[in-house]
Amino acid sequence: MANKNYYEILGLSKTATSDEIKSAYRKLAKQYHPDFHPGDAAAAEKFKEINEANAVLSDEQKRKQYDYELEHPGMGGNPFGGGNPFGGGMGGFEDIISSMFGGGNPFGGGFGGGEQKRPNRGADIEQTVNLSFLDAIKGCSKEISYTRNEPCTACRGTGAKGGNSFKVCSCCGGSGRIKYQQDTIFGRTIQVGVCPDCGGTGRQVLDKCPDCKGKGYFKKETRFTVNIPAGVDKDSSLRKRGFGQAAPNGGEAGDLYIYFRIEPHKLLRREDRDLFVTVPISYRTAVQGGKIIVPGVEDTIELNVPECTASGTKFCIRGKGVKTVNGTGNLYVTVEIDIPAKLSREQLRRLNDFESSVQLKSCDNMLKYSNNISAVYGRRIDKQ
Ligand SMILES: [Zn+2]
Ligand SMILES: [Zn+2]
Repeated sequence: MANKNYYEILGLSKTATSDEIKSAYRKLAKQYHPDFHPGDAAAAEKFKEINEANAVLSDEQKRKQYDYELEHPGMGGNPFGGGNPFGGGMGGFEDIISSMFGGGNPFGGGFGGGEQKRPNRGADIEQTVNLSFLDAIKGCSKEISYTRNEPCTACRGTGAKGGNSFKVCSCCGGSGRIKYQQDTIFGRTIQVGVCPDCGGTGRQVLDKCPDCKGKGYFKKETRFTVNIPAGVDKDSSLRKRGFGQAAPNGGEAGDLYIYFRIEPHKLLRREDRDLFVTVPISYRTAVQGGKIIVPGVEDTIELNVPECTASGTKFCIRGKGVKTVNGTGNLYVTVEIDIPAKLSREQLRRLNDFESSVQLKSCDNMLKYSNNISAVYGRRIDKQ
């Protein structure tokens, strides 16, 4: 991870204050937001980089560790050269939003698939976070705590004193791989496999790390605050690289996958980016029209119901759905006339008087219906 200079990415010096980091991040994130560069892969990559840099530099503890790695280049590297998997050290701090709104992930790939499972990598951990309906839409930060085998910092997970008390593995000569012959029906073949003595690291521990007694990890409660971006859904997940289980022999730690359980809302229903609500209106509002109050994400919204609105009419309030990196959805409002449950004798009499005064010709739908019944069945009907 230290091969990317997060300070340069945000255009800051190493002594930047947390306020300077915040404002640089805001400015750049706005400039490169995928909303303003649809289909621009370079901008999407830049946006991802900016987020990655901010995720590390805005977190005091991660920044400290990053600064340390920046000053000690090669710490995460392989002391013996060659192809052993002792790389990556404590892992990066990359948050990747995946499977958000179908295939339209602007960060591209990054999840599953492309990454080859290394023999010396720690297991992944899954955590589910409960979110309120609106928190998932607006974004929020949540504290996560779970128990894992955390890589020992004193030996960088290697189990060797100071992280460097090794000798070259005598079995494989430091390559981490061994060749062996295999007889098959096609003849004798040479196979290459992981060295059984060093597990592919190419080295053997001379002095054990006194902190972790050579294990390379501690069983520990890991706790941190994760920034959940606006617009996550029940099938979204967030990956925190290197926050899974520590690997044996200083290999790369696994990843933490964060999934979401989203509570239902009292009024709104969500489908991807769109929101839906059914709102009761009175008979009078349906006939005369008028302003009604409907629920929105930030606050309630006023909606103008035109006169002569039928029960079940669906209105679309554009841009008042869920805001995501791929665009913003709409809010769909269905109005339903609420029929009073109990009317007094006097009210019923007045309703009767009113109904009798309305003529069939002023009821468009009823008139059309009556005409069709008459055309097909040869029978005349009045208002009903
Ligand atoms: Zn070996
Ligand atoms: Zn240790």
